[in-house]
Amino acid sequence: MPVDPYQDCPCGSGKKLKWCCQKVVKYAEKAEQLLEKDQVAAAMQAIDEGLAVEPENLWLRTMKAQILLSAHDHDAAYPIVESILANNPGYRPVLQLRLQDELAHGAVEAAAATLQDVLDATPAGELEEPFAWMVFVGRALGELGYTFAALQHLRLAATHESLQAEVARDVAAIEGNPEAAPWLRDSYELRPTPTDGGAGQRWSNAIELAAIGRWRRAAAIFESIAAEQPDNAGARFNFALCQGWTAQNEAAAASLERFAQLESDAERALHALALAQCLDPRESAQSVDVVRIRYPIREASRLIQKLKDHPRLQAHVLDAQQGELEEGVKDEFYLLNKDFVKDADAATMENLPAIVGVVRTRGTSLELEFAEPAVDDPRPGVVLEAAGDTVDPNGERNVAGTIPLSTVRLRRMWGLPSNAPPQAVHRIRLMVHEQNYRAVWPETPLGWLGNKTPREAAQVSELKRILRAAVLLNEYATEAAQFDIDLSEMRQGLGLEPEPTLDGDSIEIDRLPLARLRQVRAESLSTPRLRTLFERALRFSLSLAIQRAAATLVARPADRDQFDAVPAFRSNIEFARMRADRAAAQDWIVKARRFDSDAGVTPERPTWDIVEWQLSFQFDRPEQWAPRLAELMQKFGQNKEASSEMMLTLVRLGLARLVPHPQDPNRMLLDARLLEQILARYASRQASPLDLSPVGGQSGKIWTPGSEAAAGGSPIVLPGQDPAAAPRSKLVIPGS
Ligand SMILES: [Zn+2]
Repeated sequence: MPVDPYQDCPCGSGKKLKWCCQKVVKYAEKAEQLLEKDQVAAAMQAIDEGLAVEPENLWLRTMKAQILLSAHDHDAAYPIVESILANNPGYRPVLQLRLQDELAHGAVEAAAATLQDVLDATPAGELEEPFAWMVFVGRALGELGYTFAALQHLRLAATHESLQAEVARDVAAIEGNPEAAPWLRDSYELRPTPTDGGAGQRWSNAIELAAIGRWRRAAAIFESIAAEQPDNAGARFNFALCQGWTAQNEAAAASLERFAQLESDAERALHALALAQCLDPRESAQSVDVVRIRYPIREASRLIQKLKDHPRLQAHVLDAQQGELEEGVKDEFYLLNKDFVKDADAATMENLPAIVGVVRTRGTSLELEFAEPAVDDPRPGVVLEAAGDTVDPNGERNVAGTIPLSTVRLRRMWGLPSNAPPQAVHRIRLMVHEQNYRAVWPETPLGWLGNKTPREAAQVSELKRILRAAVLLNEYATEAAQFDIDLSEMRQGLGLEPEPTLDGDSIEIDRLPLARLRQVRAESLSTPRLRTLFERALRFSLSLAIQRAAATLVARPADRDQFDAVPAFRSNIEFARMRADRAAAQDWIVKARRFDSDAGVTPERPTWDIVEWQLSFQFDRPEQWAPRLAELMQKFGQNKEASSEMMLTLVRLGLARLVPHPQDPNRMLLDARLLEQILARYASRQASPLDLSPVGGQSGKIWTPGSEAAAGGSPIVLPGQDPAAAPRSKLVIPGS
């Protein structure tokens, strides 16, 4: 591409090219041409020739850094990047290179900091580009669990008109993820400039900077105000928010802890402490050893068979996608402290085995790893007994590391039979959770409680509020996992009052902290406000508030034109299904149909047929649900909307797959081979094909890729089908 000498210089100096980098144009152009032809080494040579002429040239050095980074030669690239930035602070082309590289490597805290550098270096009128970067940084933060910072980045980017549509989905996905605690997903506003003067101008400046995403500069200002006015709770709070928004989670948590000591409003202090604990879940300082023993293997194949047959070992299939493959490791087993329970319905807390170690084959050794070794620990004996003469019993023992005591106690996993029915699995998980929160947690030392146990901390008045916030976190974790566990006794045991119920039409539903929505007494609200409660709870997937608001709404049939009953019923059916409570789900379906018929909805809504079938799919064998599915497909054949809803359900359940159209990238096709096989096998009647066009909105027939291939390779394991092939499942607690 010919270069116009009167264009702005590509080095970003702001001068015309003719008066700036003119001397190196030919080298840069040559390098670019070579890069287009993928001749990287030759391009680098052209740049080096240019740098021999002008060693400090920014344009060429930036190109060089870019080439080195794309070749993943970080050791060579970073000194150039840092030296350019040292001499030209805020040089945006290089900052963006660094940002790109940090994002590519998942270094999100560094990327968030670099984005702040970019924003500091960008004039107010040119924010569009850094805002586009803000979207990438926000997504990366979200993927790596920095929910609080991610949302702030994405919400701010969404205020930019050109990005709004694109980012709205990202925001909604994070807001609606129940796995992140509500304190992390809530929106927070900076405390406004105090009217009593003091730091007035600086405070307002900081708020303006924060409004365009310059949270690091704003944090520095609030920090200096907080240093001058150590009792100023608002400055401390704003400092904490700005730290959290730039992904400095631990620092933000410490600032929130300070804030809570200064704040006179007890509720605000409480929720700040809950947020702090979400941002930085401090483990206990107490730790235990992790021991590793390696036994030389004598006979590998017989060893594996013996381990597989042993009732105290549970095979664990390593998942490469979860990053579970370690070098040299081939087979892995969990070591149980009791024999395997064969009948899940008979599992009790007394006979359910805990996972107390990991056994794996690594190279030519059998490796046993376990935490908290005791004198005369029985675990090595169990493994040797299982392995028999296939290993050399003289293992090499060493301490592989340490692990916080709170992790060992609270993240214990349990062995569970693989073919357990869903009700039994739910009952066992509930049982384990109950024991964990009611019995184990109160006796476990925690970092946030100064390494005291909750039981001990309950005696220390300064720790009371932190303890109360910690209990709120546990209650939410229980809610999010759909466990109906009453923690009020545990609360009482710690000397904590129940959280107050919020009553009446004076509550500001829209501004209430998200974590408080579960405390609103739904019955006390007028129908429009009840609907607001339901909608806000639904947006943030807060299951208790959703269920209460939904149940109360549908109990007001006289107001039925003021709300949509379908999502209300659906929510309650869905949550009952998630709790494996089939009777409750069925009961809600009956109520939904009655509500519809009272309202004169004719003909009957297909939604209730579909959710009812879904219950059967979850709890029954294919002999039962497949014929019903064939019937429904027949029934919905001519109803486009119902077909579409049915199909989305089938896709969600893994019975059908969406695949890209081979010719048209904008269309999706349905791969229904598995479904067809199931229907052919279990449903006596051949189903007429659904009208499968709705996905892309275009009509068309079912297309199946390579239809000659068998569907046998499908990863879906149907309930009750060939359980021997499925890996035994495990239980992980809590919050997993
Ligand atoms: Zn230049």
